[in-house]
Amino acid sequence: MSMRRVAILSIGDELVLGQIDDSNARWLAQHLQTIGCAPSERRTVTDDITQIARAMRELAATHLALIVTGGLGPTRDDLTRDALLEVVDQGGAFVQDADAIAHLHAWFEGRGRVMPTTNLRQALRPASARMLANPLGTAPGIAATSASGCMIFCLPGPPSEMRPMFDACVAPLIRDHAHVVLTAALHTVGLGESSIGERLGSLMARDREPSVGTTASDGIVSVRVRSSGLEADARAALESTINAVREQLGDIIFGREDETLAAVVGAMLHAKQLTLVTAESCTGGLIGSMITDVAGSSAFYCGGFITYENARKTADLGVAVELLELHGAVSHEVAMSMARGALRVCTADIAIATTGIAGPSGGSVAKPVGTVYIAIALRGSSVISRRFAIPGDRATVRRRSALLALASVRTVLLGAPTKILLWGEAEAPRVEAL
Ligand code: ATP
Ligand code: MG
Repeated sequence: MSMRRVAILSIGDELVLGQIDDSNARWLAQHLQTIGCAPSERRTVTDDITQIARAMRELAATHLALIVTGGLGPTRDDLTRDALLEVVDQGGAFVQDADAIAHLHAWFEGRGRVMPTTNLRQALRPASARMLANPLGTAPGIAATSASGCMIFCLPGPPSEMRPMFDACVAPLIRDHAHVVLTAALHTVGLGESSIGERLGSLMARDREPSVGTTASDGIVSVRVRSSGLEADARAALESTINAVREQLGDIIFGREDETLAAVVGAMLHAKQLTLVTAESCTGGLIGSMITDVAGSSAFYCGGFITYENARKTADLGVAVELLELHGAVSHEVAMSMARGALRVCTADIAIATTGIAGPSGGSVAKPVGTVYIAIALRGSSVISRRFAIPGDRATVRRRSALLALASVRTVLLGAPTKILLWGEAEAPRVEAL
């Protein structure tokens, strides 16, 4: 059942018999689409009250709105208002609409004519209905609501009267009632998909409206909210669901829609007037690449070092040979030393360093493939190092490492520098004075 859609009903013997083309229905169908509302059914019936009433009733039962044209004139074969009375107020009597009577009198007086009494019929409407002004003719339109909640609009047959009345009185209402599907995406970093699912609990229930689902990519879990219904309702429901999600997830949400982690971290750095330098081993420049994807990143990114072999770590960043020999290049000690070294040779406020085993070879029992150390040094303060065990093939480990490095910077900027992140080992991050 297309409850949220619109039907068009054309009335007139000459239409059914093919004596004139149903240009009203065609025009309405096209104009409905321009306001985001595809008509789902069109019908044409003769000037027969039983047929008109039956068509109105059937279409009203299954549609949000029904637009009827024709049969509003003063003559005996104009039966649309009689059919409407049957449908919205069976057994009820017409009321005379005072404004419509005034309009009719003015219309005929303005043309120096006496109003035929038959025209008074055009001022009649069901008690619950209201008139739609017709500045271009005698027949006002009539708007009513069926028991099923369908908005029924009866418009005059002549296109020159029907079209402006649709534009002025019908389109704005239908636009407000158009069925929409709104979506939102909230991106998180720091927790896995199942932990997020646990926190969201019943928000993720299958039959919930708006619906809430998650997708994961490289440790970034996105919560996707989908809300459908009338525009205003759908928007309000979307916002309240977003708030409920925010309440459950708090600051692990870093951004919305097409915001990237690099862009968000960049904006935070920029807002705090801080600058960043990178010292990358296993990520080989990926962090720098992600940051420089952001337009305007020179405002917060100084640049970086790709120190892949040990000799470069020593030459460029001053990592002591003894440290490399004692702990190995993949260690808390070397990660911290790289970060410290980057701050020494650059004016940045924050340095980030990565060293790890991306695989497929090079792993050991103590440091299997996927072991990655990420250190952050804060000028005038401390250096923090985390050990991660990142699952995935070489490309995945590298990508995930780069994102975790950005996530680590974010925790520092949020004032929670030692927060445990996804794939972070159970041991707490190591913190030393700079
Ligand atoms: P009136 O007061 O002029 O009688 P009405 O609302 O009763 O208006 P109808 O009597 O059904 O409308 O039609 C009046 C004229 O409007 C028709 O002769 C025709 O020229 C035009 N018309 C009616 N319906 C359509 C239609 N669906 N498409 C195009 N023209 C139409
Ligand atoms: Mg007529």
